[in-house]
Amino acid sequence: MPIDPKSFAPLSPPQRLLMGPGPSLPHPRVLRALGAPTLGHLDPAFLALMDDVQTLLRALFGTRNPLTFAVSGTGSAGMEACLVNALEAGDRVVIAQHGVFGVRMAEIASRLGCDLVKVEVPFGQSIDPERIRTAIAGKPTKLVAAVHAETSTGVRLSIPEIAAVAHEVDALCLIDCVTSLGGIPVEVDAWGVDLAFSATQKCLSCPPGLSPVTLSERAVDALRRRRSKPSSWYFDAGLLLHYWGSDRVYHHTAPINMLYALREALLVLFEEGIERVHARHLLHHRALCAGVIAMGLELAVAEPHRLPQLNPVRVPAGVDEAAVRRALLDQYNLEIGAGLGTLQGKVWRVGLMGHTARRENVVTFLGALEEVLARLGVRIARGQALAAASEVWARPD
Ligand SMILES: *Cc1c(COP(=O)(O)O)cnc(C)c1O
Repeated sequence: MPIDPKSFAPLSPPQRLLMGPGPSLPHPRVLRALGAPTLGHLDPAFLALMDDVQTLLRALFGTRNPLTFAVSGTGSAGMEACLVNALEAGDRVVIAQHGVFGVRMAEIASRLGCDLVKVEVPFGQSIDPERIRTAIAGKPTKLVAAVHAETSTGVRLSIPEIAAVAHEVDALCLIDCVTSLGGIPVEVDAWGVDLAFSATQKCLSCPPGLSPVTLSERAVDALRRRRSKPSSWYFDAGLLLHYWGSDRVYHHTAPINMLYALREALLVLFEEGIERVHARHLLHHRALCAGVIAMGLELAVAEPHRLPQLNPVRVPAGVDEAAVRRALLDQYNLEIGAGLGTLQGKVWRVGLMGHTARRENVVTFLGALEEVLARLGVRIARGQALAAASEVWARPD
């Protein structure tokens, strides 16, 4: 079929306020960085920028791991890259499953032919490290994997205890910190984490497309002792090391402009200061929670396990949750997320990630949600939410 370019609408995506489980709002400086002139992937000017990205990522992950870089792909690519390098057929692996992303890790491990032991809890609950120790059962285990911040449920796990339990049997500890990195503290070295992966579009204020990863010396040693090559060529860390390491040998063409964006996003983050960034997420989370509760709604996660950057709000009985999301999108250009897995239809997931985690967005969300719910005839307390949020901002400590 001949193409008539004039029959296509010019590109003009609506300006949405992204308050779902990711992507979140990219910082304007990050979007500008994407438009900088493209360089060759072996251009000395580009190699210097790669070095910067590695330095900045090490600081953010809290690690000295030389093998710290960005996988070309989204968070799931980083997940697959870590698993495919750490595991081979027959390896025993224990995976903590408290949401959709733990399930995804287990699916990848089972495709690799591993001896998979799952530690399952109902979605929305946390996992006691003791349960992981029971699952390990003192047996030789290659890897213990857990999701630090489960975006599907809004629940955080305590990683240092899980890493300690893994090391009791000399297993590697892998964490998914896709939603935690940049939102809450991540300390790879201090916690004894051996492999970690993240993604650009959650708390890093960057569009989707890259997955920062880091591998400890122990993980690299385990890689050297493999009986077989990793089943993926694209994600083979041994090969990627030659590009990101000092020999700079072509492996695949790096997504040049996305790496500019990630570098800019990391600079924006360090200019604000990592502690301040975490404090900002926490403050606006507290304001959002106060507003939601003042409206008469409930939060779905018990307080000690809550994630500041991902807030699941219970859908009141009898409310068409999709109609509410639709109204927010159509009338306020505001996107929030639906429940996933067993939480489908039961919660809305409200993200406060990266550049989205700002006071004006909390105000817009609370006002818009209240207006939409009232219009749909849902019984809520009106006119209280902003005052409750304001109270939190007035007394931040
Ligand atoms: C978003 C997310 C992923 C998957 O990342 P994609 O970028 O969608 O591939 C994995 N784990 C967690 C915890 C996530 O939030």
